[in-house]
Amino acid sequence: MALLPFYIPKSNRLKVVIIGGGYAGMAALTVLSRYASNIDITLIDPLEKHIKITHLHETFRYPLSDLQVSFKDIEKRFDCRHIRASVTLDEKMLCQWQADNYLVINEEVINFDYLLVTTGCGSKEVNPSGNVLTLQDFMTSAGSELLTTPSIKENSTEQSISIIGGGATGIQFLFEINQFLNRKKINYKLNLIHSHDNVLGQFPAGFNAHIQKRMQDLNINFYANTVFQEQQTDKIVLQEKQSGKQIELPSTLSLLFLGKQQQHKLTANSFGQIIVKQKTLPNIFTAGDCSYYNSFGSNALTAQSAVRKGKLSARNILRHSGILQLLEPYLHRDIGYVVSLGSNDAVGWLASKNNIITGIPALSIKELVEAQYDLLLIGVDTYLI
Ligand SMILES: Cc1cc2nc3c(=O)[nH]c(=O)nc-3n(C[C@H](O)[C@H](O)[C@H](O)COP(=O)(O)OP(=O)(O)OC[C@H]3O[C@@H](n4cnc5c(N)ncnc54)[C@H](O)[C@@H]3O)c2cc1C
Repeated sequence: MALLPFYIPKSNRLKVVIIGGGYAGMAALTVLSRYASNIDITLIDPLEKHIKITHLHETFRYPLSDLQVSFKDIEKRFDCRHIRASVTLDEKMLCQWQADNYLVINEEVINFDYLLVTTGCGSKEVNPSGNVLTLQDFMTSAGSELLTTPSIKENSTEQSISIIGGGATGIQFLFEINQFLNRKKINYKLNLIHSHDNVLGQFPAGFNAHIQKRMQDLNINFYANTVFQEQQTDKIVLQEKQSGKQIELPSTLSLLFLGKQQQHKLTANSFGQIIVKQKTLPNIFTAGDCSYYNSFGSNALTAQSAVRKGKLSARNILRHSGILQLLEPYLHRDIGYVVSLGSNDAVGWLASKNNIITGIPALSIKELVEAQYDLLLIGVDTYLI
């Protein structure tokens, strides 16, 4: 059993419940199973499989199963129990759980010493109708299958597919789809619809410049400052943001990537313990996209912040349960971010936001970071913190 600094366990068996088996939940699970021997870990997630969602756009090249790890395997690997359920929670329930030290799931009472909430933040809600796909569709079917349905197939007349949203997810899907259509010789044009001037607005301006150039080279139509209204049978209805004017374009299918929900965040102190109405819940922690830590560390909605918060909360759970109770503050800063542009290009920053990298060096860094997470999932922790 590896030694965790400042953690001297007490003799009692520890019960930890993790709600949410995404990046933060998995990272926490690996830490708990690595440093604690006398522990019962329960993982609650409605899905049957953990999804390496940061690769989801790659399902135009690889099967979806390559990105899935069944929670049955996770149970064996990390000696935990998985319960398939979706937990409804709010501030009142969190306070109740802190007082009771148990929660009821599928009519079963689950006792715990510590609870960790890592439910992510989900995509902005839309009511897709007709020929519209959202991220949710790609969680259950590979991109290659979704784009070879009867409505999208080899065609002699030119038709269009519209991608809505020029954030990291929309851009990664756009370039993968472009390559996929070329490989399959499907004669469709691509439209990118974005509600701002520049794509990837939260990243340095060099990202937008590189992507705009690539879109021009690939003949992808870019509609800036334009919002999606609806996809009809063979056309898309848009609205220009400034003038309010309606535009209609030929489009057989729309893919909506509208970004993440920002609401329902759980506030935590710098150790990851949830704060409700200025009161700290000492035994209830949070990590990942659903959490906002009051600390110097990064609250970015990224996998790397989610993993670091998940690991930190797990270390602090163990330390809080031990004899010394010395907790560690969250100080992680993201050291880069790479957006892939198909299988042979990417754009990113590394070390400083002024240091823009593109092409193979950027792709290699993305692969390295993702390999590091793959290793964590088999129990090999190569993260420095
Ligand atoms: C296509 C795509 C590409 C991305 N690429 C990158 C990238 O290259 N680099 C990067 O840093 N980030 C990337 N991100 C962002 C990254 O995936 C997220 O920041 C990260 O997944 C957040 O981890 P999390 O554990 O907080 O939430 P998630 O990974 O979303 O996991 C949440 C888990 O909680 C479960 N859950 C939800 N609600 C409940 C409930 N009520 N009860 C029980 N369980 C529940 C869900 O089933 C899920 O398993 C990408 C995201 C997408 C969608």
